[in-house]
This record gives sequence, structure tokens and C-alpha cells, in this order.
Amino acid sequence: MHDPSLMKRDDSDYVFYELTRSICPDCRKTIDASILLRDNKVYMRKRCPEHGVFESLVYADAQAYCASSKFNKPGSIPLAHSTSVVNGCPSDCGLCPDHQQHACVGIIEVNSACNMNCPLCFAKAAAGFNLTLQNVEAILDHFVETEGNAEVVQFSGGEPTIHPEIIPMLRAAKARNIRHVMLNTNGKRIAHDDVFLEQLAELRPAIYFQFDGFERRTYEVLRGEPDILEEKLRALDRLATIGCHVVLVPAVERGVNDHEVGRIVKFALEHPAIRGVNFQPAFHSGRFGLHDPLQRMTIPDILRALELQTEGLFTYGDFIPIPCCFPTCNSVTYAYVDGETVTPLTRLLEVDDYLDYLANRAVVDLDIEIKTALEALWSTSAVPGADKTASDFAVTCAACGLPGGDLSLSELTSRLFVVMLQDFMDPWTFNQKNVMKCCKAILLPDGKQIPFCAYNSVGYREQVRKQLAARNGTGRHSVGNSQPLTFSFPH
Ligand code: SF4
Ligand code: SF4
Ligand code: SF4
Repeated sequence: MHDPSLMKRDDSDYVFYELTRSICPDCRKTIDASILLRDNKVYMRKRCPEHGVFESLVYADAQAYCASSKFNKPGSIPLAHSTSVVNGCPSDCGLCPDHQQHACVGIIEVNSACNMNCPLCFAKAAAGFNLTLQNVEAILDHFVETEGNAEVVQFSGGEPTIHPEIIPMLRAAKARNIRHVMLNTNGKRIAHDDVFLEQLAELRPAIYFQFDGFERRTYEVLRGEPDILEEKLRALDRLATIGCHVVLVPAVERGVNDHEVGRIVKFALEHPAIRGVNFQPAFHSGRFGLHDPLQRMTIPDILRALELQTEGLFTYGDFIPIPCCFPTCNSVTYAYVDGETVTPLTRLLEVDDYLDYLANRAVVDLDIEIKTALEALWSTSAVPGADKTASDFAVTCAACGLPGGDLSLSELTSRLFVVMLQDFMDPWTFNQKNVMKCCKAILLPDGKQIPFCAYNSVGYREQVRKQLAARNGTGRHSVGNSQPLTFSFPH
């Protein structure tokens, strides 16, 4: 008989940090998940009774992940909810009364088709449905009803610029006094269509522009079009001629274009139309499912690459999490640009002190005007190029002793530069804790608002596509609030 006192217990090679809920990447059933810390990285491990154990990298800096809880700002609850709590999160979207944040950004996918066929497409763009102008007007009215002062509406797809009614849709959003109207695009139509460019000049939406780098291989792997760079550069130059403000949106995949992030920022700093870059680690939903979940890019990976590749123009420490959503979802920094000199605000101002929601510091300790301006800037609803963003920036410039406070808003807009990182979750990394405080929602024709990562990971997207396509197919193009979309999920 063996003697237990002579045996040695094994130590695990990780710290068990917390328990949360996620989904099985295979069957999408909701299951428990553990967050583990190992070698200063954060992993999610979960077990589906049917499909086994899954582990994925979530955040490549465990210390920053744990420290980020101080940036978790109390949520602001929407004026009205569109669903009730029935089966529990994430099956009740939404927004249901359990949701912890209003929708800072509402996204309307006006179609499912695209003029590209990217291998990386999380929307799996293909023929399916087109919303009508009437649908979009009803969606916008409902958004204003639930938000009061609706902040940002983003038109997306598919490729929204190929929708025949995209211009009246943009106009309808502007007519409702929604503070910022944005258009997501791959740039193809803008590169070639003079009439469309003229129409955009009249409305001047903020442009979120797909731009992944400069190399043929980058575009071949991510977009299936190795020679598309020239078209993109042409579109950007044309946007500059009509005074549209642009944010570049690169999807970053390890071993594909992670060596191009510095060059993208340097290019953006010099281009007259570009006000910032929004890096998104590639996430593996839709057409881009196959990958090694332990090797995915995360926010800290891109920050380290940026520091190295910009020779310190932007450093890891310049970036601070965004507090309105869950703090590990996004990080951002703002810089004042004067010729060759780029000064991130965070080097002159203790931004993290102002955005610390655990310290319980008395308001008298902090200048409330600066705190309010920083909260507006460190929000997913801040839009580079907008006057509101420039005026918030002016307050912080004055506090830092930068000359920005003395400039006109349009001059300041051209000196303000934003670098943001946004790590969308996929079925491997899906964390219910994050999605319950998500501040980006897909706005649907029946009034539902579904948090972006739930929409793409849990199975909403597929079910919406099928139902809207069936309605288009029967000629019932108007899919207003009276016809609820229905969802079913494995339990
Ligand atoms: S993600 Fe939000 S809206 Fe959706 S079920 Fe969970 S709490 Fe409700
Ligand atoms: S990723 Fe964008 S541009 Fe590419 S196919 Fe999908 S919707 Fe179209
Ligand atoms: S969209 Fe996803 S990554 Fe962004 S705030 Fe919502 S849950 Fe977080």
C-alpha cells in the first residue's frame, strides 16, 4: 500500500482568477468558463459536456488585465428596454433589463451583400437582404426613443455604400439630430463613383475605412485582393478633397500584418483626411473561423508592436482602457500633432487618475471640467473629426499647457490624432461579463438592440439574416417593429 505522506502534490501552472460564462465554440451552448493567468497572459478555459475542453488567449498582459478593473465606470441605463429577461444572458438580447450599459454606438447593417469577398469577413457578406429606407427610419426612431440623446449611428453591412438608398439613410440619421453619423466602408465605391462622392460631400459622415496595411500579401490573405492598395489610396485622397474625416480600421492578424502597424500610424499621421486609427485584432467569427486560439492577437500584442515600430512615437504606457464598456474591450490614446512632434495627452496629464472609478476620490480633488472632457474622449462614442471631440480635446490641451486650447475647432481637429484598439470577442473568447456591459449594439428592424459580440458569436447574426432574407424574398420589404424577429438557442 502506498503512503500518501510520501507523495508530492502537483502545482498548477496557472492562477485561477475568476469564473465567468461563455459559449461552446462548437454548439454555442452557454457554459461556465474559467479565466486563468499564466506567464503574465490571460487565458479562457471552458468545457462543453459534448464537445470537450477549449482554451484561448484573451489578453497578453495579465498585470494590465487585473489592474484594469479600476477603469470600470458605472453603467448608464437605457431609457427603455426592448426585451425581457426570460432565458438569461446571452439569449435575451436585447437590450434586456439585465444589461449594464446603454448603447453608445448603434450599428445598422443595411444589407448583407458586398462588392468584396474577404476571407476575413465576420459578417460572411453575401446576398441575403436589403433593409428599406422605411425600415431604417423606424430603427432610428426607436434608437432615439431608447437613448434620448442618441450619440452615434454607424451604417454598416455587408458593404453599405452599395445599398441604393444609403444616401437617404444617412440623411435620415442626420435629420434626427443623432450627434455623429458614421459610414463603414471598404472604399471601393468612393474610389470610382463621382456622383456618390458629391453626395457624400453634402452629408460628410465620419468614415470608418477598412485599411490593413501596404503589402500585397496582407490584402491577399485578409481580403482576397492582393492589388487593392492603389484603390484604397485613391479613395482616401478623394475623401480628403471633400473634407471628410476618416478613421482607418485595420484588422490585425498574427504573422500577416502585425509588422505593419507602425507604418499604418505613420501614414495616417501624414494624410490630410485621416484623424486616427482603430486597430482591431482579427476575431474569428463568420468566414474567419479556422485559427489557433492560443496564438490570436490581443490589445497588448498590438501595443507592443506599435511601440517598437513607431520608435516610441506611441508607447505601451500611452494607452488607457475605455471605461464605458468593459475595460479590457478597448484602449485608446489621444495625441496633439504639431508638424513632426506628436504628444500623447497621457504623457502630460494623469488621465488614469481621472478615470479611476475605484479610488472614490472626492470631486474637489479633481478638476470636474477636465474629468468630464476626459470621460467624453475615453468613450466609444467619441468620433475623431467631430467638433464635440475637438472641444473636449481643447479642455485637456489647456490643462496640459498645449496650445490646442487657443485654436479654432477646425484647426484643432486637424491636430488631434487618435489611436484606438478594439478587441471584439469571438466564440472562443466570448465572456458574458464583457458582453453584459457592451456599449455597441446592432439595431434591428423589430426594435431589438443586440450587443455586437453577442450578435456575431452566439448565433443572432445567422438567424437575423435568414429571417430578413425570407421577408425580402416574399416582397415584404418593410420589416417594421410589428414583426418581431424570433431566436432559439441551445440550452
Ligand atoms: S448581452 Fe445584455 S441584452 Fe443580451 S441577454 Fe445579456 S444582458 Fe441581456
Ligand atoms: S469584410 Fe467587409 S469588405 Fe470584406 S466581404 Fe466582409 S463586408 Fe465586404
Ligand atoms: S462590442 Fe464586444 S468588444 Fe466591444 S464593447 Fe461590446 S463586448 Fe466589448
